[in-house]
Amino acid sequence: MRIARFTTGEDPRYGIVEGEPGAEQINVVGGDPLYSALTPTGAKVPLDEVRLLAPVIPRSKVVGIGKNYADHAAEMGGEVPEAPLVFLKPNTAVIGPDDPIVLPSFSEEVHYEGELAVVIGRICKDVPRERVKDVIVGYTCANDVTARDAQRTDGQWARAKGFDSSCPLGPWLETELDVANLRLRTRLDGLTVQDGNTADLVFDVPELVSYVSRAFTLLPGDVILTGTPAGVGPIQPGQRVEVEIEGIGTLGNQVVRR
Ligand code: MG
Repeated sequence: MRIARFTTGEDPRYGIVEGEPGAEQINVVGGDPLYSALTPTGAKVPLDEVRLLAPVIPRSKVVGIGKNYADHAAEMGGEVPEAPLVFLKPNTAVIGPDDPIVLPSFSEEVHYEGELAVVIGRICKDVPRERVKDVIVGYTCANDVTARDAQRTDGQWARAKGFDSSCPLGPWLETELDVANLRLRTRLDGLTVQDGNTADLVFDVPELVSYVSRAFTLLPGDVILTGTPAGVGPIQPGQRVEVEIEGIGTLGNQVVRR
């Protein structure tokens, strides 16, 4: 099931995306599906008449994982870590489909990183690997936008990976998906620049959620980014970057500098 968060000009609403590609409708539900049962209101809105929003705004955190594909670790000049490399992005970094990625004034080298995002559905802590499926509500596409120059010079990654608009999410939550073997592609102005597969994750989704939950209590709406495959590179004002994951869909954003 695909759960979208959207607006038609008023307050954000949620709905289930149904129908054939190109003719989808949103079956509107009441409330926030992360906190209440899915209750259809009976209203239906054509998908092409809405503006999709980030499917979730994390109440507390986006947890990032670094160097979780061997080919990306190699292109960054290193080995894969012995344990997941964990960092945080603030919830103010989150934007939705077609929102602009605003290049930060302090950086001259901002990179895309297409990634699978895991969305947590219930409060949890110290989750054993075999119970992880019970705490995940769904998956979406993410772009872990990174100011590579600041990442090198700052040591800490807070500014490099946490600036406003550095975490596009979307287009919706896919709640029923086996993520063990999904093709993940990033396109820059239509040209494929990353072409990976979640089968190549060094630490898989159950391991990541379990590991992260040993450090942090996870809350409904928290997001875990699972890392990016090889092929990262710079984005420039005016370009459009798209992250497409098999079984989920495509997240697209324009790049601007203000
Ligand atoms: Mg990343």
